[in-house]
Amino acid sequence: MNFELSDEEQAFQAAVRRFGDRVLRPNEQKIDAEGRIPSDVLAAMADLGLLAMPVPVEYGGMGASAVLTELAAEEIGRGDSSMATAVFFLLEAGWSTAFSLHGTEEAKREVLPPVCAGKAFLGIASTEPTGGSDLAGMHTTARREGTSFVLHGEKSFISGTEEAKELGGGHLTLAKDPAGGFDFLYVPTNTEGISTQRFHNMGRMGISTGGLTYQDARVPEKYLLGTQGKGFGLAMGGFSVARTYVAAACIGAAERALETGTKYIRERSVFGQPLGKFEAIQFELADLWSQLEAVKWQVRRAAWLIDTYTLKGDTSHRSEVDRVVSSVKLAAPQIAFECVKRVMMWHGASGYTKEVGLELGLRGIMSYMVGAEGGLNIMRIILGRELLGKDFLPYK
Ligand SMILES: Cc1cc2nc3c(=O)[nH]c(=O)nc-3n(C[C@H](O)[C@H](O)[C@H](O)COP(=O)(O)OP(=O)(O)OC[C@H]3O[C@@H](n4cnc5c(N)ncnc54)[C@H](O)[C@@H]3O)c2cc1C
Repeated sequence: MNFELSDEEQAFQAAVRRFGDRVLRPNEQKIDAEGRIPSDVLAAMADLGLLAMPVPVEYGGMGASAVLTELAAEEIGRGDSSMATAVFFLLEAGWSTAFSLHGTEEAKREVLPPVCAGKAFLGIASTEPTGGSDLAGMHTTARREGTSFVLHGEKSFISGTEEAKELGGGHLTLAKDPAGGFDFLYVPTNTEGISTQRFHNMGRMGISTGGLTYQDARVPEKYLLGTQGKGFGLAMGGFSVARTYVAAACIGAAERALETGTKYIRERSVFGQPLGKFEAIQFELADLWSQLEAVKWQVRRAAWLIDTYTLKGDTSHRSEVDRVVSSVKLAAPQIAFECVKRVMMWHGASGYTKEVGLELGLRGIMSYMVGAEGGLNIMRIILGRELLGKDFLPYK
C-alpha cells in the first residue's frame, strides 16, 4: 500500500493550488457578488486543462484519472470557498466522464471539445419539482419519434441553466421512456421548446440554478447515451463519479478554513494568551483535524475505486464503490460545514463579517447538505441498502 502521490500528481496538485491562490482567491468575493465566474477565470481553467479534464485527449480533454480530478477538485474548493467554481468544475468533470463513456462518437466530437475549451457548459438535469430523491418517480418523458427524442416535462434546481444558455451547451437529462425504462440524453439548452427559469439561492452565487421546461423539445437520437430505455443505471454511475468530486471540493474548503483558523488562534490573544492555548479551542482543532483527515483519505480511496473498477466497466466491486462514495458524500459536507462554522466562532464577531469571508464557505457547503448531488439521507439509505441488503430499503 502506498499513500504517496506520484511525482506527476504532486506537480499537478501544486500547479492547481497556485492557480487557486493567484486566480480564485482574489476573485471569490467578486464571483459571489456578481453572480458569475468571470470569463478570464474560465479561460485560465481551460488553459490549464482543468475543464472537463477526464475527457479523452481526442475530444479535447486531458484524459485525467479520477484521482487526478479529485486532487483538482480539492484545490478548486480551497481556492473559491463559495463553491461556485468547484460546482462548475465538478459538474463538467463528472458528467463529461459519463458522456465520454456512453455518448455516440458523433455527439462526443461535437459536444465535448467546446466544453473542455470553456466555450460551452455541461451539467446534469435529473431533479423535478415533485422531488429529486425519488428519481424513479419522475414525470418528464422522452418519446422516440423516428430519429429524434421528444421531451415533455419539467426539471428544477438545475445548476448551470443560465451558463448553458449564454455560453452554449446543455445537460445530460434523465427522462422516462414511454416504451419502458429511462433514457439519458444530452439536451442542448437552446433547443426549441425549452424555456428556463432562474432561482435565487443563498450561496454559491457564481453559478446559476434554475428550472427547465420542455414542451415537445426535440433532440436527435445521436444525443442518446447508451441504449434506449437503459439510462437509469448510466445516470447512477455518473452520480458516483460526481459525488466523489463534491466530497473532494468540500475537503479543500475545510482545509482552507482550518488553516485560517489555526493561524488565527495562534495570533489572537485573549486573557493575556493566544486563543490556541485554551484547551476548549485546542481540542476542537484536534477533533476537526482528525475527522477531516479521515474523510479526506476516504475521498481519495473513492477516486481510486472509480479508476480501478467503475471506469473500466468492472462491476465486481460495485457494492464497495457505492458504500465508499455515499459515505464520503455523507461525511465530507458535514465535516466541512463544521470546520467553517467552528473557525467562524473562533473569530468571534469578525467571523460574522463578509470581510473575513468564512460565511461564503458556509453558504456554499450548505448546498451539499440540503441536496445537491443527492441529500444526506439518500446517502444513508444507500449505505443501509449495501450494509443490510435490499430488503431493508425504506421504500419500494
Ligand atoms: C444548489 C443546488 C443545486 C442543484 N443542482 C442540481 C443539478 O444540477 N441537477 C439536478 O438534477 N439536481 C440538482 N439539485 C437538486 C438536488 O439533486 C436535490 O435537491 C436532491 O436530489 C433532493 O431532492 P429535493 O430537493 O427534491 O428533496 P426531496 O427529494 O423532496 O427530499 C427532501 C428531504 O428529505 C430527505 N429524504 C428524501 N427521501 C427520504 C427518505 N426516504 N428517508 C429520509 N429522508 C428522505 C432528503 O434527503 C431531503 O433532505 C440541486 C440542488 C441544490 C440545492
